[in-house]
Amino acid sequence: MIDLTLSEEQKQLQELARKFAKEEIIPKAAHHDETGEYPREIAKKAWELGLMNTHIPQEYGGLGLSVLDGCIITEELAYGCTGICTAMEANALASAPVIVAGNDEQKKQFLGQLTAEPLFAAYCVTEPGAGSDVSGIRTTAKKVGDEYVINGSKMWITNGGVASWYFVLAYTDTAAKHKGMSGFLVPASTPGITVGKKEWNMGQRASDTRGITFEDVKIPAKYRLGNEGDGFKIAMSAFDHTRPPVAAGAVGLSRRAMDEAIQYAQTRKAFGQPIAGFQAVSFMIADMAKDIEAGRMLVWRAASAIDQGIRNTKYAAMAKAFCADMAMKVTTDAVQVFGGYGYSAEYPVEKLMRDAKIYQIYEGTSQIQRLIIAKEIFERG
Ligand SMILES: Cc1cc2nc3c(=O)[nH]c(=O)nc-3n(C[C@H](O)[C@H](O)[C@H](O)COP(=O)(O)OP(=O)(O)OC[C@H]3O[C@@H](n4cnc5c(N)ncnc54)[C@H](O)[C@@H]3O)c2cc1C
Repeated sequence: MIDLTLSEEQKQLQELARKFAKEEIIPKAAHHDETGEYPREIAKKAWELGLMNTHIPQEYGGLGLSVLDGCIITEELAYGCTGICTAMEANALASAPVIVAGNDEQKKQFLGQLTAEPLFAAYCVTEPGAGSDVSGIRTTAKKVGDEYVINGSKMWITNGGVASWYFVLAYTDTAAKHKGMSGFLVPASTPGITVGKKEWNMGQRASDTRGITFEDVKIPAKYRLGNEGDGFKIAMSAFDHTRPPVAAGAVGLSRRAMDEAIQYAQTRKAFGQPIAGFQAVSFMIADMAKDIEAGRMLVWRAASAIDQGIRNTKYAAMAKAFCADMAMKVTTDAVQVFGGYGYSAEYPVEKLMRDAKIYQIYEGTSQIQRLIIAKEIFERG
């Protein structure tokens, strides 16, 4: 038998996150979307309530919650605003490589910072010339005595302008391709780091995305994660932990769009009746409801697999691809239900549609998720 009911603790977490979204996120979402202002105060409150860094083990000051617990929280926060949610969730992406591969000293120093104070961290893999093809990165880290000297440029880094440390992927041996990459923890205050301007993106504007340049950035050798050559594996394995919650964010966003569409369809009248009475409209909403349920089940499948120590790469990619594509479809249909008003920034669904698009791009595009799923099927069954 499969039991899909949440435990009492999970229901409490869900309720806490739902209340937080309603009281702290929703009232301020439009402001952050319009101005691009970083939601520092909201994140601080979430941090105080234990809604950030939930996955960091208790010995480093975190709550040590499961990936599934994190997904339950993320769905609720994303219901409020995915831009604000992404700003808070970027810490999870940056800290996943440390959780996966860090030694005790690294965990104490870098994870400990995030749990001691409401600080931020960023995951720096993508570069101006290489995103999907990670082997195309050009950043290098050269060992000189007891230090590494990092040179290169990163692009599209979430939390780039607010992070106190970065996870940075760089080549220590360019000839060895994937096996020549290493991962490093780099304090943001290290000389030689230049942070670019905040990108003005289509959606999720509360989130801070920037380019970062590393010019002769010297860090102690002890800040290397794992062994030389482990970097690619570490950087990619982080996604098994983070893609389920990212997909949960897409579920939360879709649920919000559906709720807005339901409410509007019941009040807007055409041809003498509420538009919900037209099958063409109610079927759009029925499709939203069924896809959201299916998406959530995939998220829970991917999350509970990794929580049980089972390889979840295929399910994490399925959840990410399905929920990202679903969020785009649901929000586009929500705009359709609103008709002309849906196209206006005065109504909420226009923002939701803009916010949805990035789910098909960041943490691996929808095309790359399909590549991963196919590879897992043909290589592992
Ligand atoms: C708002 C935002 C936040 C981000 N945050 C971060 C972050 O915090 N850290 C970080 O490191 N990166 C981050 N990224 C980068 C993001 O992960 C990349 O943009 C993404 O992986 C795609 O890489 P690319 O932009 O270089 O596109 P490309 O790799 O150039 O892809 C362009 C197109 O080609 C397709 N394509 C490429 N290769 C293949 C293939 N083999 N088969 C089929 N199709 C293919 C892609 O699917 C896409 O449609 C962020 C991006 C954005 C926009």
